[in-house]
Amino acid sequence: MIEVVETFESTEHGEAQERVACPLCGAMDERLVLEGRDLLFAKPGAYRLVRCQGCALEYVNPRPTPTALGPHYPNNYFGYALHDEAPPLMEPLLRWFARGISLRRIRFLERAVGRLNPDVDMIDVGCGTNRLLSHIKELRGCVGLGVDFNPEIVAYVRDRLEMPVALGTLETADLGQRHFDVVSMMEYLEHEPDPKRVLMEARRITRPGGHLALELPHIAGPPGRLFRSLWWNLDLPRHLVFFTPKTLARMLDEAGYELVAVHTFSFPFYVGMSIAQALGLRHWDRHRRAFPLIASILGLPVWPLTFLLPEFMFAVARAK
Ligand SMILES: [Zn+2]
Repeated sequence: MIEVVETFESTEHGEAQERVACPLCGAMDERLVLEGRDLLFAKPGAYRLVRCQGCALEYVNPRPTPTALGPHYPNNYFGYALHDEAPPLMEPLLRWFARGISLRRIRFLERAVGRLNPDVDMIDVGCGTNRLLSHIKELRGCVGLGVDFNPEIVAYVRDRLEMPVALGTLETADLGQRHFDVVSMMEYLEHEPDPKRVLMEARRITRPGGHLALELPHIAGPPGRLFRSLWWNLDLPRHLVFFTPKTLARMLDEAGYELVAVHTFSFPFYVGMSIAQALGLRHWDRHRRAFPLIASILGLPVWPLTFLLPEFMFAVARAK
C-alpha cells in the first residue's frame, strides 16, 4: 500500500494535498521533472511531476488527497461524455473515432490472447460509457461486465445500453468470487492514487493464465518529452502516475502478472491536442464545441509521422 508521508493544505489555492513515497518502490528520493497546471478545466494551482531516483517511475507529488480529487472529475470529463450530447455535426465524427479506438484495442488484445468469443468472461474497469464492451458485444458476441464509480454513468449503461454493470471500484464493487479471463483497464490506471494496489486487486479476480489489458499514457514517448507541461496526456492532476514499459513491467511483476506484449501508438488527433495547447488554446470547458475539430485539423499534417510519435501504450500481461 502506498505510503502517505504527510497531508496539508496547499498555500497556493487551499486544496487538501498529500505527499507520498514512490508508488512503485517506496523510496523518497525524487527529482523534479516539470511543473504543470490543469489545462483542461483551468483550475488554479501548479502540480509537480517527479521521477523516483530509485526506480524511475514518474508521478505527481504532492497531489490532491483522494477526497480533493473528486471535484477534478466533473460529469463532462471525457470518459463520461455521451455522444448524443455532442453538437450535431460532431456526433458522427465522434462515433467513428470511438469505434476506431475500440477496433484498435480489440486488435491488440486479440493478438495476445486469441480471438474473443461469447464464452470469454471479461470485465472492463473504469468502463465509462461502456464503448469498448459495447463494440466487443457487437463484433464478437461477448458480453462483458463494466465497472465504474460514477452512479449516473452506471445507470446509463444499465438502463439505456441494457448491459451488465457494477457500481464502484474493484475493491468496493460486489464481484463475489468471480475469476475473469480478461480484465481490462483503458486509460484508467494512471488516474489511480495507488496503482500497485489496483493491479493486485485485478490479479485477485483474474484466473491463473488469464490476462490483464492496460491502455495508458507513455511518458517517455516523443510527445511527452517534447510538449512536457503542454502535453495533452499529462492531464494534471487527474493523471497521477506515468509509466514506461520498464516501470510498468516491474509493477505488474510485483502484482503477480508477467508483461507479455506492449504496443506503443498515437493518433494525429492527440498530437493536435498538444499542438493546440502549445498554441495557447486551453480550457476544454470554454472551447468544448470547437476543440475536437481544431485538434483534428492541427493534427492532420502529422498523420504520416504518427508512427514516430507514440504517446500511448497498450500492454497485455498474463496472470502468473
Ligand atoms: Zn521508485
